[in-house]
Amino acid sequence: MVRTTLSATLAVGLTLTATALLAQGPPAGRGGPKAGQTVEKIRQLKPDLYMITGGGANTLIRVTPEGLIVVDTKNPGDENYNRVMEEIRSVSNLPVKYVFNTHHHPDHVGTNQKFIDAGATVIALDALKTHMASDPRTKDIPGRPTQTFAKDYTLKFGGATVEAHSYGRGHTGDDTMVYFPDLKVVMVSDQITDANPIVDFANGGSAVEWTQILDGVLKLDFEIAIPGRGEPKTRAEVKAFRDKFATLVSRASDAIKAGATRDTLASQVKTDDLGWMFNAAFYGGLYDELTKK
Ligand SMILES: [Zn+2]
Repeated sequence: MVRTTLSATLAVGLTLTATALLAQGPPAGRGGPKAGQTVEKIRQLKPDLYMITGGGANTLIRVTPEGLIVVDTKNPGDENYNRVMEEIRSVSNLPVKYVFNTHHHPDHVGTNQKFIDAGATVIALDALKTHMASDPRTKDIPGRPTQTFAKDYTLKFGGATVEAHSYGRGHTGDDTMVYFPDLKVVMVSDQITDANPIVDFANGGSAVEWTQILDGVLKLDFEIAIPGRGEPKTRAEVKAFRDKFATLVSRASDAIKAGATRDTLASQVKTDDLGWMFNAAFYGGLYDELTKK
C-alpha cells in the first residue's frame, strides 16, 4: 500500500525529494488514525539525516563522523527514550553529543534528561528554558537545556553546521527553527501543522507574529521543512500555510474593525475555506492580541 511504498522508497531514498515524499505520504489532517502514539521506525530523509515519528513530536537525527545531533526528544518516559535509541542504534553507534529543542512543550523536551545523562549538551533558547520551568505541563519534567542562547545559535560539529533561529513568537514564546544548511532541511516544528494551528497564548504564543516566523524560514535555502507532527513539507506548502495564516489574522482584524467583540469574533471570521476550526479560547486570545494597546 501507500505506506509500504513510502518506507521502501525511503530505505533507498538518498535522492528523494520532498515532493515525492508528500505525494506518497499518508492522508493528512483530522479524522485519520491518531499520529503514532508509539515511536516508529527510523527513516532516512537525506544523506546523514534521519527522522523518527511517533511517541510525541518528530525527532531528527544528524549523523556526523564525531557523533550525533538530535532535534526534539519526544514525550516523557523511559520507553520513548529507549525506543528512540534503539532506532538510532540501527543506523549509528556513535554517541549523541548535542540535542536541540524546538520549543518547550512536553512532546518536544520529554526525554532531555536521558540524553544529558548519556553525555549530551541540550541547546535551546533562553525563553524555552524559562517557559519549561514555568509551564505547569513541563515544570516537573527533568532535563532543562544545559546551554542557552538569546536569538540565534550556530553549532559546527563533526563537519556539520546546524543553525537555530528565533524569528519571533508563534506557536509559543520560544519557537526555534533548526536549519541544516548543507542538506537544505529546516525543522519548523509546530509552526506548520496538518490540523488546526495552536497558539499557546499562556506561554508567549502569538497569532500576530506567526507569519513573521515563516517569513524568516522562507528566506532560508531549504527543500524540505519538517513539521512537529506529520510528513515533511515542501517550500510551496510552507508558503501556502503562511498565506493561510495571514488570511486568518487579517480576517479577524477586519472583523474587529467592523465591530466584532471578544464574544462574537468566532462567528465573524470565516475559516472553513482554510480547513481550520478554532474554539472560543483561541478567538479570545486572538481578540486580546489584536486589540492590545
Ligand atoms: Zn507544541
